[in-house]
Amino acid sequence: MKVLFVASECAPFVKTGGLADVIGALPLTLKSQGVEVRVMLPAYPALREMAGQGEVVREMDDLHGGPARLVAVTAEGLDLLLLDAPHLFDRPGNIYLDATGRDWSDNHLRFGALSWMGAQVGMDGAAGWVPDIVHAHDWQAGLVPAYLHQSGSSAPSSVLTIHNIAFQGLFRPEICGNLDLSGDLFTSDGAEYFGMLGFLKAGIAFCDRITTVSPTYAREVMQPDFGMGLDGILRKRRGDLSGILNGIDTDMWNPASDAALPASYTAETLAKKRKNRAEVEKRFALDADTDGPLFCVVSRLTTQKGLDLLLDTLPGLVGRGAKLALLGSGDKDMEARFVGAAHRYTGSVGVIIGYDEALSHLLQGGSDAILIPSRFEPCGLTQLYGLRYGTVPVVARTGGLADTVIDANDAALVAGCATGVQFAPVTAFALDQAIERTCDLYRQPEAWEAMLRRGMAHPVSWDQSARAYRDLYDTLQRNGS
Ligand code: ADP
Repeated sequence: MKVLFVASECAPFVKTGGLADVIGALPLTLKSQGVEVRVMLPAYPALREMAGQGEVVREMDDLHGGPARLVAVTAEGLDLLLLDAPHLFDRPGNIYLDATGRDWSDNHLRFGALSWMGAQVGMDGAAGWVPDIVHAHDWQAGLVPAYLHQSGSSAPSSVLTIHNIAFQGLFRPEICGNLDLSGDLFTSDGAEYFGMLGFLKAGIAFCDRITTVSPTYAREVMQPDFGMGLDGILRKRRGDLSGILNGIDTDMWNPASDAALPASYTAETLAKKRKNRAEVEKRFALDADTDGPLFCVVSRLTTQKGLDLLLDTLPGLVGRGAKLALLGSGDKDMEARFVGAAHRYTGSVGVIIGYDEALSHLLQGGSDAILIPSRFEPCGLTQLYGLRYGTVPVVARTGGLADTVIDANDAALVAGCATGVQFAPVTAFALDQAIERTCDLYRQPEAWEAMLRRGMAHPVSWDQSARAYRDLYDTLQRNGS
C-alpha cells in the first residue's frame, strides 16, 4: 500500500503546531505496519538545503509565477517530496504570515500550488512511485481532492484529515482564477463557502473519506457550535466521516531518555521529577516551596485555547499555594496580560513568551499538572505528553481532551482509573473548581501518585491509530472509491 501525504508542516523540520507532530510521526508507524508513505511539503528555507541534495523528480518552468521542482529526499526516517518553488516558499519568518502578522497575500497560490502538485503526483506518480491513496491534511492541502475530482475517474482515492476546522483557507473567488480550478466546482455543494472559495470546504466536498483527529471532535464538527459553517456539509457526509485519535512520538517524548531534562525518570522513579521541578522554578523565577502543585501551560495564546479564562482564575490558583509556569506566544494582548500577571504574582507565576521546543519538554518533565482549558480542541497533544510524563492533565471536556483524559471524579477514583481532571462548561468558574480539585488531590500523595502512574501507563503511541488509518486505506483500495 502506497500513500501520499500532502501537508504544510512536518516536525522536526518546520512546525507551528500539532499538525507538524502528526505528519512527522504517523508515517513512521505506518511504515512499520506495511504502509509506504511519502510526504509532500513546501521547501521552506529550513528545507531548501536538503532540497538541493535530493533527486529531482519533476520540473516546471512556471508554477504560479516562477519555476518549480519536486525533489525526493529522505530525512529523519521520512521519505519527503519537497516542492521547491522559491518564489512561493523561500521566505523568512512564519510559514503562513508576513512580517506584519498578516496572512501572506498569495497564500491561495502557495497552497494552491502545493495541492495541485499533490494531485499530479497522485495521478502520474513521481519517478515511478504511484500512490494508491492521496491523504490531504488541513486547508493547505484542501484543493487536492478537488483537482483529483476534476481530473476524472482514473484518479486515486483521497482522504482529507481536518486537524482544526477553525482554519479554512478562505479566499475571494476573483483572485482564484489562475488556480486551474474548474468553475463547475464553485457551488454550494462544492468549493463555495458563503461566496468565498474555501480550500477546506473543497476538500470536504470532493474527498472520498474525511477524518478528524478525535472521535468527539468528529461528532462536534457536525454541530453548529463547532462546525464553523461547515457543519451542514459534514452532516451530509456523516457516513464518510470518522474520528481517529492522534498519537505521539514516544521516542521523542520519553521521560526516561529526554535530553532536555536534568533528571530522567520512569513511573518507578517519580521522585526524580523534583530535580526537574527545581529547574523549572529557576528558569521561570518561581519560589521553591513545594506545598502546592506547579501547573504549567505550553500553548499558542489564542481564544481557542481558553487562556483568557486562566488569567481570571490566577488569584484562586495563587491563593491555594499553587504556582504557574507558562510558555506560549500568540495574541499580543494576551501575551501582555500574562507578562503583567508574572509581575503581579512574583514568585508564583512565571511567564516566558516565545516558542521553545526544549523548554516545552522541561515543563512536561518538571511540572505537576498541565492546564488545557480549550474552548475547542480537535485532539490536543500536550495532554498526551502530560500523561506520558506523569504531569496531570487538567482539561476542558471537549474534542480530543474528552477522549484521552479520565476525570478524577469519585467513581473513577474508587474504580482506580482516573488519569486527570476534566471540567465543563468552559468558564472561569469551572476552571477554578478544576484547579481546586487538582490542588486537593495533590495533597493526597498516595492517590496523586497512583494517578500519575496510571497516566504514564495510558497508551499514547501511534500504534492503534495508525492501524485505524491503515484499515481506512484498505477499505478505500478494496472499494476502489
Ligand atoms: P495546536 O496544534 O492547536 O497548537 P496541539 O496541542 O495539537 O495544539 O499541539 C501543539 C504543539 O505545539 C505541541 O507539540 C506543543 O508542545 C507545541 N507548542 C505549543 N506552543 C509551544 C511553545 N510556545 N513552545 C514550544 N512548543 C509549543
